[in-house]
Amino acid sequence: MKKRLTLLGSTGSIGESTLDVVARHPDRFSVYALTAHRNGDKLVAQCLRFQPEVAVVGDAETAARVAAQLRDAGCKTEVAYGPQALVDASQSVQCDTVVAAIVGAAGLAPTLAAARAGKRILLANKEALVMSGAIFMDAARDHRATLLPVDSEHNAIFQCLPRENEPRGGVSKIILTASGGPFRTREPATLVDVTPEEACKHPNWVMGRKISVDSATMMNKGLEVIEAHWLFDLSGERIEVLIHPQSVIHSLVSYVDGSVLAQLGNPDMRTPIAHALAFPERVDSGVAQLDLAQIASLSFEKPDYSRFPCLALAMKALEEGGVASAALNAANEVAVDAFLSRKIGFMAIAQTVDAVLNGLSNREPSGLDDVLEADAAARRAAAAFIDTHLAGARR
Ligand code: NAD
Ligand code: MG
Repeated sequence: MKKRLTLLGSTGSIGESTLDVVARHPDRFSVYALTAHRNGDKLVAQCLRFQPEVAVVGDAETAARVAAQLRDAGCKTEVAYGPQALVDASQSVQCDTVVAAIVGAAGLAPTLAAARAGKRILLANKEALVMSGAIFMDAARDHRATLLPVDSEHNAIFQCLPRENEPRGGVSKIILTASGGPFRTREPATLVDVTPEEACKHPNWVMGRKISVDSATMMNKGLEVIEAHWLFDLSGERIEVLIHPQSVIHSLVSYVDGSVLAQLGNPDMRTPIAHALAFPERVDSGVAQLDLAQIASLSFEKPDYSRFPCLALAMKALEEGGVASAALNAANEVAVDAFLSRKIGFMAIAQTVDAVLNGLSNREPSGLDDVLEADAAARRAAAAFIDTHLAGARR
């Protein structure tokens, strides 16, 4: 049966890659809803091509503009706006699959709504899971939602782990690979001076700005360790990070008998997206076959925690539990925003997150409200730290 999709964050990097795969298989996939924040023009173009029933944007003004353009073009897509409209699009009985590709905490409510509605969820929005952890996983289990990881490392691990009904006892650990980002070999003393443009220039992947900065600080890998903990139910000690600059091996699973299984491919998100879209079948993703002879060599090294303090901070937050991961994520979002708008320097991102975690009075969240409260408090603390200690200090 044809899968009917709600694509949250369709105008982003993951959103566009998803639509590229969807367009290759009109017999398998159709689009129920597309959502964007402010990029109305791109959303209009997507609606004209994919003819969804619903399009959602962030505010009334963009909605009016998008609706007028669609009407003029004779397109029947209905336009809605705001957070509740995202939730409605996610839980609608008219869709069976939700691609969660909004960036940051803004994606939590609609992604959680998809879990509670028992959808098949293709998860790219790692921040939603990092924030809500057990609450999200419990909702998915209680409502029989199916979670399929789109993040390339987690998709790789998913492919290398035993299937659901096979014994998991033989798994000793999982190994998340990391490219090391654009500053892997840069002189550490010069990191304070890097610009947003340099930070967003990833050697292997083209991605949204927030995740590009996260890759440069390696907070992205830290968030991914937390994401892996929840997705695969493994303690932090059984999740290892390995630097692999070529981004060809997307991650590995070690077994007690000494076997190590890995998933390889060209660094193109259409592979994990196509895998999750079609699972358990396989479909063409448009990605070229891997040519190992041409790549010739693959290399590996241990992560350098002093160069990348954000990675250590994320691991500490995971170990602390409670709302520490939610606070880490919120502080990081505020700090990355401040860096991208040139309010603070690159190394100040880690400083901000560290300060917020140090000031946190941690507790076990009893529900989503506690998580949202911790998120809001961490945002306030991060903004105050930046204003008091950092603003104006750098470009
Ligand atoms: P992006 O910035 O390119 O796109 C983000 C999308 O979210 C856009 O469609 C935007 O309109 C929407 N959006 C932003 N703020 C919003 C808000 N407040 N409310 C509603 N919608 C909003 O980001 P991306 O690179 O596509 O990443 C999306 C998610 O996928 C992130 O969580 C990222 O960590 C994850 N991810 C991305 C990649 C990648 O290669 N880009 C790989 C793995 C995981
Ligand atoms: Mg990843």
